[in-house]
Amino acid sequence: MSAVNDDAAENILRPVPESEAELAFEGALRPQSLGEFVGQTKVRGQLELLLQAAAIQNRTPDHILLAGPPGLGKTTLAMIIAYESGRPLRMSSGPAIQHAGDLAALLSSITPGEVLFIDEIHRMARSAEEMLYLAMEDFRIDIMVGKGAGATSIPLELSPFTLVGATTRSGLLPNPLRDRFGFTAHLEFYDDSELEQVLRRAAVLLGLTIDKRALAEIAGRCRGTPRIANRLLRRVRDYALVHGTDASLPAVNAALDLYDVDALGLDRLDKAVMQILLTRFDGGPVGLNTLAVSVGEEPETIESVVEPFLVRIGLITRTPRGRVATREAWEHFGLAPRGQEALSGNDL
Ligand code: ADP
Repeated sequence: MSAVNDDAAENILRPVPESEAELAFEGALRPQSLGEFVGQTKVRGQLELLLQAAAIQNRTPDHILLAGPPGLGKTTLAMIIAYESGRPLRMSSGPAIQHAGDLAALLSSITPGEVLFIDEIHRMARSAEEMLYLAMEDFRIDIMVGKGAGATSIPLELSPFTLVGATTRSGLLPNPLRDRFGFTAHLEFYDDSELEQVLRRAAVLLGLTIDKRALAEIAGRCRGTPRIANRLLRRVRDYALVHGTDASLPAVNAALDLYDVDALGLDRLDKAVMQILLTRFDGGPVGLNTLAVSVGEEPETIESVVEPFLVRIGLITRTPRGRVATREAWEHFGLAPRGQEALSGNDL
């Protein structure tokens, strides 16, 4: 595979948006209400109940934690929570909160009843986390003034608010923080029929006529992720436009092949992890850190972005001794199993 193709595959299947244009495109396709939000039936029902109960009691809804891999709808749900409860939304993110002072500035300007969304909440500074505990529990913070022996803390009352935190790594959140959320929603990868619904809805919004077989093909190749489904649909639309064809199955296949999207929707990093696990480590078991170093990525990225999907489609399993390739993985990459007896996803 050429470097150019690698880049193309990485770009189109990347689970996190990077450009302004992409963010605008996502914004246009984002469902605005729970009724429009496809799939995650259980979570939707739980949220609905929580929001209705708060509305009946005329109070701010409980703090909510949304956990799951990128692109599954955490930001969308945060916006929907604000919309459904008729409250203003304020958006921030963990990496933007590097000091307790950043959080104090944010919290002290909150208006009554606001929904505060903190994306990637696990990346917030430790000092801010402690301030957040108190804010979540008592709608109050203590602001430290001065340093050393002369330092004093000034209490500050806050307006009641609902915190919606999103994380790809709920395991990294300290227990005291996790315990202060009234409800944690674990978002799952979407199945093919749900992804077809996401795509059908996006096609209508984009004014694109596309047949059922074409939708099914994209649904099967988008890593169980609505963000990637929408992105692939856009490339198919481009292809149909440039070639003057319908958005039919041949156009989908040609467009996705051009962008190097494989039959399972694996991206460059997925493939790199699998190739190394299979060829360099004979299918494992191999530890997360070793695997991450071998592909030149952070262990966090491998654990929160790459692995969940590979486990979900049964190409790797996590064992106490490390990550192991399954029999299906050897088959998918057209290799003869080596090393220890390969496990089958079905055996587990
Ligand atoms: P996350 O915050 O988990 O990374 P987002 O909420 O930004 O993911 O979702 C990415 C895009 O995927 C959104 O712009 C939206 O168009 C689409 N999307 C996500 N979940 C759904 C859903 N359940 N139904 C329809 N579209 C969805």
